[in-house]
Amino acid sequence: MMKHANGQAIIQTFEAFSPKHYAVEGDKIGLQVGTLNKPVKKVMVALDVIEPVVDEAIEAGVDLIIAHHPIIFKPIKSLRTDQVYGRTIEKLVKHDITVYAAHTNLDVAPGGVNDLMAEALGIKETEVLVETFEDPLKKVVVYVPEENAQQVREAMGQAGAGHLGNYSHCTFNTKGTGIFRPGEGTDPHIGEKGKMEYVDEVKIESVFPASIEKRVVRAMTNAHPYEEVAYDLYEMAVPGSKLGLGRIGELKNEMTLKEFGEHVKEAFGVRGARVVGDLDKKVKKVAVLGGDGNKYVNQALFKGADVFVTGDLYYHVAHDAMMEGLMMVDPGHNVEKIMKQGVAGFLSAFIDENKYSTEVITSKVNTDPFQFI
Ligand SMILES: [Zn+2]
Repeated sequence: MMKHANGQAIIQTFEAFSPKHYAVEGDKIGLQVGTLNKPVKKVMVALDVIEPVVDEAIEAGVDLIIAHHPIIFKPIKSLRTDQVYGRTIEKLVKHDITVYAAHTNLDVAPGGVNDLMAEALGIKETEVLVETFEDPLKKVVVYVPEENAQQVREAMGQAGAGHLGNYSHCTFNTKGTGIFRPGEGTDPHIGEKGKMEYVDEVKIESVFPASIEKRVVRAMTNAHPYEEVAYDLYEMAVPGSKLGLGRIGELKNEMTLKEFGEHVKEAFGVRGARVVGDLDKKVKKVAVLGGDGNKYVNQALFKGADVFVTGDLYYHVAHDAMMEGLMMVDPGHNVEKIMKQGVAGFLSAFIDENKYSTEVITSKVNTDPFQFI
């Protein structure tokens, strides 16, 4: 039996990972072309939605493109199909290909573009470079029969509850007695209708970032054996995790700027990179920001970076960095293509878990407009 995932279900899962409210103000994200209300045979993850990518999608029979760069960013004043932009959108509509964009929300998301880039560079224990969003903490308290406590703890942990620093699955557990009387029309997991029941229960407490509340509550209630799950949710006054653009952290071993430049080229699979600074100077603390990081040179300096890796570097910004003693490596904007594997891996896990026959592919078209000669 072929069971294709619905577009809505795919995006709902994707948004648990890269929620829309992570995006910076004014960004153009979400559903941009077509509909999500349809079964999806094939989803393609792409960095850019330019005409050759759309041709590739048509050729491959793709129903849904999840892209990092929005296809519609500035308001459209006309849609002329005798010009490349209008023609590209025309092709999407004619072939019923939906385009969904996850831009700065995917940059910010833990495990998104910037984390993938930091990981590729081998930067350890990274922090956010530019804070844009604070995810407040919440606490869930749930009462579970003793024999089911472990499965509920596990499900909550898997959903992301109980992350404290490098610890995961953190909970606090107290034993007690749950007392209840099942009424008419119930089908109790324990006990019988009309009779008072005393059950050895565990009260499990765990914290989680508010943005994943739905996911945590769903995982918890699904794993819980009761029809009516007794749980409380609390807002917390302690500060939540800071999210944002870019990452900063340290290399395992320091190296010269020249060696680091080569390392960047290799990590991102690019033929060339522009480098600012003394090639013999040592590099240990690295800031990285996918896309255009010109605005954030001061943040990189302020946070003590030796070198800042970003794209689209301007001449005058490079001058400023050079005069401040901040080294820079610009491997280009296209290195954000690293998101394709990350997002495809995440979607594939969801598809496999639910035994959908939907296929997940990544765009193979090289969308880097620049070549080195
Ligand atoms: Zn970008």
